[in-house]
Amino acid sequence: MRTDFFELKDGKYQQLPLDFAKDSMADFIDANTFDFHFGKHHAAYTNGINEALAANSISEPILDVFAKVSKFPAAVRNQGGGYFNHAFFWKCISSKKSEPSEKLKQAIDRDFGSSDAFKEAFSKAAASQFGSGWAWLILQNGKLKVVSTPNQDNPLMDIAGEKGDILLCLDVWEHSYYLCFQNKRADYINKFWNYVNWDFVSDCYKAVSE
Ligand code: MN
Repeated sequence: MRTDFFELKDGKYQQLPLDFAKDSMADFIDANTFDFHFGKHHAAYTNGINEALAANSISEPILDVFAKVSKFPAAVRNQGGGYFNHAFFWKCISSKKSEPSEKLKQAIDRDFGSSDAFKEAFSKAAASQFGSGWAWLILQNGKLKVVSTPNQDNPLMDIAGEKGDILLCLDVWEHSYYLCFQNKRADYINKFWNYVNWDFVSDCYKAVSE
């Protein structure tokens, strides 16, 4: 699995800078939303994970922590997921147009029937996640699958109903779309497809499928 989207430095998880300008996908996530979503929410989770790990004397790598997160206090699950999920999400989006690799495209066709059927399944998972949470594309036992998680949970956590290697995600917390779309989550989901960073998603697939 790729782990270059987050960083541990001097014992503390870091909030890496965005790879794109905050106004480069304004009809999906505008600069104002990034100011809050990246500048406030993700920044708070970054502080939060470091505080939660320190408070519980946890020094294991975050992926090992996720694999037995049920054994730790809720702050580790919530702050850890909040830090990690957002770091992954920022890499999943880009204003630069891209396409799935040939291998990923074949796997999508194999497991969903078509690219459109995959997008429909993912959009449905994102739209129907009740309350706050995330939609994910995962690789589970060699097969692609669309799942959703509540709150800041993710499919790498032992508490997840559906586990697998993560390839793509979409944040569907209201803070991710409310300033641009208010209550219209479906409009935000539709715009997402114009900004998926398929180069990153394809690399994530390559890393876990070979
Ligand atoms: Mn968020």
